[in-house]
Amino acid sequence: MERRTLLRGLGLVAAGGAWGLAVPRTATAAGGGTPSESVTPDEALERLIAGNRRFVAGELLHPHQDVERRIEVAPSQHPFASVFSCIDSRVPPEVVFDQGLGDLFVIRDAAQNLDALIQGSVEYGPVENGTPLVVVMGHQRCGAVIAAVESLEHGVDLGPYLNEIVAALKPAYDAAKASGVPAEELVDATIRQQTALTVQVLAADPRLVPLVDAGALAIQGAYYSLDTGEVSWSGLDDQAQASGRLVSRRGRRESQPSSVR
Ligand SMILES: [Zn+2]
Repeated sequence: MERRTLLRGLGLVAAGGAWGLAVPRTATAAGGGTPSESVTPDEALERLIAGNRRFVAGELLHPHQDVERRIEVAPSQHPFASVFSCIDSRVPPEVVFDQGLGDLFVIRDAAQNLDALIQGSVEYGPVENGTPLVVVMGHQRCGAVIAAVESLEHGVDLGPYLNEIVAALKPAYDAAKASGVPAEELVDATIRQQTALTVQVLAADPRLVPLVDAGALAIQGAYYSLDTGEVSWSGLDDQAQASGRLVSRRGRRESQPSSVR
């Protein structure tokens, strides 16, 4: 199977077909000026993989958390990745990826649900700052998903605002139900569907599509294990995850993100 076909099937959407290409990016006043050096989507992902491996191993470097870094990034920021994840207190992206000041844009809400404001926040890094990688990260035993599945299964009313989260998670719940998983796996399947569906929406974002087509951006699904601290990456095979080195992916994308399954 052609690699990108496999990746899409596994939920790695918008591989762009051109990972590994560093393309010039336009500086913008809103983003503070210059693009994110020449970090490619692959290199950005490798940095996150390496940071998570340090976290899992208990070998944190706590990079970029000193006065020098604070002073360095005060005039402008050029994070190498945007991480969109859950509010869960056990999954702070800067910690689980061992990063520091100026390294990541972080967008968090319950079960990483998109709405217009959130989507704009996700767009901000790639569109205004040249950020080469967007990670959508769900996590094990997500409380928001547990509550939503309970509500949807049993008609529990959580009140007007929490019900918004339930409604936002219903497509993922429906997809998980349709997959026929056993009841005890419904929550985890919903978590994984939620990540895949969110990646799909972002991969069809009209402001992000041209960046993906140019190889300047990848949108990557991920799953964080509370038990191990390990982040697994949609579409990356065991060898790539174990080595932390990604095979350079070149060539044009074969189809539009909306076709991604
Ligand atoms: Zn959560």
